Amino acid sequence: MLMKREVLRRVLNDARSGQVVFVSHCMLNQNVRYQGGATRPGAVAEVVARLQRAGVGIVQMPCPEQRAWGGVDKRYTMPAYGADQTRFRRLRRPASWLFLLYTRLAYRRLAGQVARDIGDYVRSGQSVQAVVGVGGSPSCGVRTTLDLKGVLDTLAGCDPAQLNTDDFNRRVIVAHARPGQGMFVAALRRQLRRRGLDVPFDEHDLIAEITH
Ligand code: SF4
Repeated sequence: MLMKREVLRRVLNDARSGQVVFVSHCMLNQNVRYQGGATRPGAVAEVVARLQRAGVGIVQMPCPEQRAWGGVDKRYTMPAYGADQTRFRRLRRPASWLFLLYTRLAYRRLAGQVARDIGDYVRSGQSVQAVVGVGGSPSCGVRTTLDLKGVLDTLAGCDPAQLNTDDFNRRVIVAHARPGQGMFVAALRRQLRRRGLDVPFDEHDLIAEITH
């Protein structure tokens, strides 16, 4: 099998570089971001241009929040907005705790799938140059994450009808940024370690993007 693969590679030589980078979903598609968090109509052009210049393939990872939090709209997070003004406010803290527990479990499963994909490239003899996450994301942050409990508290106290994009990003996102990795990145690192895969991680700076 392995010998046949090498023979095919020799006789069917093609243009591939044999190098790929795994990127967070919203690097190629900001339409999946939280409402108020998209700063471009689509891809982060400068990141794509840099990777193209480097001659690497770009593998788009699934968006963990889309997958775990109820789709593109993140429907499961909707009750958190203005929760302190509703009759469910006493349930907010236990609900937040359950939400975080559920997220951890969902991310473990998703991280396993991505780690398998990374392993597949490595087994095929290609090089996975990096995983590029999103700094300032509670899920995809590599060096910068968010205090998710603080975010949920702030969301609960706000009046959804009075929000605006700049204020939301400043009060909810920037104010809760802190050093550390997001929950999905942490789960992916664990899954890679378990499989003996060593891939460098880097991040695109979401905080710089939304405060620009
Ligand atoms: S940072 Fe991660 S979780 Fe957030 S929108 Fe991008 S891919 Fe989805």
